[in-house]
Amino acid sequence: MDKDTINQRFNLKDGEGAIGEIFGGAMLGMLGLGFIYTNTDSVTIGLGITLNDLVENNYRPFEVLEQLKQHPKIAPLIEGAELKEYSAHLIPEGGYKKIPKLCDNGVMIVGDAGMLVNNLHWEGTNLAMISGKIAAETAVKALNKNDFSKRTLCDYEKCLKKSFVLKDMYTYRNLMDIFHQRQKAFLSYYLQKINGFFDMFTSVDCVPKKEGYWKFIKSLFTDRKITELLKDICALIRLLWSILI
Ligand SMILES: Cc1cc2nc3c(=O)[nH]c(=O)nc-3n(C[C@H](O)[C@H](O)[C@H](O)COP(=O)(O)OP(=O)(O)OC[C@H]3O[C@@H](n4cnc5c(N)ncnc54)[C@H](O)[C@@H]3O)c2cc1C
Repeated sequence: MDKDTINQRFNLKDGEGAIGEIFGGAMLGMLGLGFIYTNTDSVTIGLGITLNDLVENNYRPFEVLEQLKQHPKIAPLIEGAELKEYSAHLIPEGGYKKIPKLCDNGVMIVGDAGMLVNNLHWEGTNLAMISGKIAAETAVKALNKNDFSKRTLCDYEKCLKKSFVLKDMYTYRNLMDIFHQRQKAFLSYYLQKINGFFDMFTSVDCVPKKEGYWKFIKSLFTDRKITELLKDICALIRLLWSILI
């Protein structure tokens, strides 16, 4: 796409860029997020979805991407654009509990290979860079000592534990389990409720506002079994507890 068209469609001045994060219905109820961002004369659009969801829902990645590109909010932004390149890549989002052994005799594992991805914050590049830096510093020490056994190389893991890399991974240790357990609620039900709330809030329908609020509150308890609501509250508390404590 040419620069002027991008600037006009994304409401940008020269030198500015835009990024949009996409979640909810456009991911077809699967656990994942989409993104769109501008470059000087191109637009990047993509999404990340868990492999289990793709398999369970029988989608191939490009099929979801094609549907995202046809979404009424996205299609006008890329209308007439020419495809320059595309790719698919696994993002190892297993989280803290799935991190493999990161060092051994003659080996240090960094970045994606070590499952060092903080999916909630969309961070992987920085964790790869910092783990690579720490591994390189450890390698220099090993070279100076001429000792490439795990006794020296495992300094890498000790330093990584002190850095934000493993601290952040630990902070979100329960995230994936909880998201998988409550994904339908958080990615479908509550998003519909938020839409429903704002639909009510902005409707001019001659219904007293108080009635609208109470109808909405009541629906939270009657739409589903009350146990579902309790499970969501417990999941949220468990998640916040493990993040903050
Ligand atoms: C769609 C998508 C969106 C993402 N968005 C973000 C984001 O917004 N922010 C963020 O921080 N991270 C993001 N990431 C994650 C980020 O890209 C990775 O975490 C990061 O690139 C990992 O770096 P790495 O060096 O460990 O691995 P890689 O970048 O995968 O590098 C490994 C390299 O090794 C090469 N290689 C593999 N096998 C061999 C071999 N046998 N011999 C020689 N070379 C080999 C590969 O070709 C590759 O170049 C995203 C990833 C994807 C797929």
